[in-house]
Amino acid sequence: MTSLIHADEAGFFGNHGGRFLPPQLEAPIAEVAAAYAQARQDPGFQAEYEALLADYVGRPSPLFLAAGLTRHLGGAMIYLKREDLNHTGAHKINHCLGEGLLAKRMGKKKLIAETGAGQHGVALATAAALLGLECEIHMGAVDVAKQHPNVVRMEMLGARVVSITSGGQTLKEAIDSAFSVFAADYADTFFAIGSAVGPDPYPSMVRDFQSIIGREARRQVLEKEGRLPDALVAAVGGGSNALGLFTAFLEDEPVKMFGVEPAGRNLDVPGEHAATITLGTSGTLHGMRTLLLQDEDGNPAEVHSIASGLDYPGVGPQHAFLRDTGRVEYVTASDDETIAAFQLLCRTEGIIPALESSHALAHAIRLAPTMSPDKVIVVNLSGRGDKDVDYVAEYLAR
Ligand SMILES: *Cc1c(COP(=O)(O)O)cnc(C)c1O
Repeated sequence: MTSLIHADEAGFFGNHGGRFLPPQLEAPIAEVAAAYAQARQDPGFQAEYEALLADYVGRPSPLFLAAGLTRHLGGAMIYLKREDLNHTGAHKINHCLGEGLLAKRMGKKKLIAETGAGQHGVALATAAALLGLECEIHMGAVDVAKQHPNVVRMEMLGARVVSITSGGQTLKEAIDSAFSVFAADYADTFFAIGSAVGPDPYPSMVRDFQSIIGREARRQVLEKEGRLPDALVAAVGGGSNALGLFTAFLEDEPVKMFGVEPAGRNLDVPGEHAATITLGTSGTLHGMRTLLLQDEDGNPAEVHSIASGLDYPGVGPQHAFLRDTGRVEYVTASDDETIAAFQLLCRTEGIIPALESSHALAHAIRLAPTMSPDKVIVVNLSGRGDKDVDYVAEYLAR
C-alpha cells in the first residue's frame, strides 16, 4: 500500500489507525463503516452535502491574499483560506453536517458525541438542529465548568449536555461515557466524532468531509496565481482542518506541507504542551492506534495549549503516517509565539483569528521571510477568534 491518502482495508495508515474496540462496539462501528462506504459512492448523498455547504455554511470560503501581513514580513506571499467565515465560525461544521446527513441516511434519530472544549459539541448541535435530529453531548464536569458559554450554546440549539463526574472528569471520561451509551443504543443513535480520529472509518470519513477545503484552495490558487502553492500550513489538534487542506495537494510533490502542534508553555515539561507527533509514542486511545502523549501505564497524559481545540493527547492516525513517510513536516509553536501571531494578524489584516489557527500563522510568520516574494504560502485560517478575545486580553495583561 503506497497511497498517501487511503487507509488499507483494515483501516490502517501504515502502522497507525485500525479499530481497537471492546466487543460491544464492533457491530455498531462496522455498521457506520458499511453505511459510509455506500454513501461516499452515492452522487445523491454528495449532492445533498454540497448543497448544504453552499447554502448553509456559505462555501466556497474565500482564499484571501494577506497583503498587509506579507508586506510586514517581507518574503513569500501569504494567502489565508478563510474557514473562519463559515457559519459557526470554523471548519468543524463541514464534517458535522456530513456526519449528520449520514446518520439520517441510516435512519438514526439521535447524534451522540463527546466534546472537550465544546467546539465540536456546538457544531454538532447546530447540524442536529438543522437536520431535525436529537443531540446528546457528553462532557467532563471539569470542562462543563470551564467552557460554560459553549454549554449554553449547545443547550440553546436543543442539545442535551451530559456532565461526566467519573475519574479526571475531562475528555477521556467523556469519550468512554459516550461510547458506552452508543453501544447500548445504536439502533437509534449515530456516534459523531469531532476530528480525523477514532476507529476506522472515522479518520477517513472526517477527512473526506473536510477535503472540500483543499479542493477549493487548489482551484482558487490556480485562478489567482496560475500555479500551485509552495507551502501549506495548518494547525494540528486531532488533524481534521490540516487534512482538509492537505488532501487535494498530497500527490503534488513540490508542495511542502507543515502541520503545527502546540508547544504550549514548555516543550520540555510533560503536561505543559500538546505536541503529540513531535514527542508522542505509539498507543491506543479513542478506538485507534496512533501517537499519544501518555504516562507509563498507557493513560493519556495531561496536556496544555492556550488553544482549547488543540488540547488533545492523541492525533489522527493519518498524520502519524504522514510523519513517518516524511510527506508532511510537523513543527511546533509556543503559547507566546501564538499570541504574537494572533496580534499581528489583527493589526495587519483586521482579522481576529482563533488561537488554534494562530499556531499555523506563527509558523507561516517564521517561514515567509526565508522565502522569496514570488513564492506562495497558504495558511488554513481554521476559525475566528471571537471566542478567544477575553483570554488573550487577560494573557497580555499578565
Ligand atoms: C477544533 C479546532 C481545531 C483543531 O482540530 P483539528 O481536528 O486538528 O482541525 C483547529 N482550529 C479550530 C478553529 C478548531 O475549532
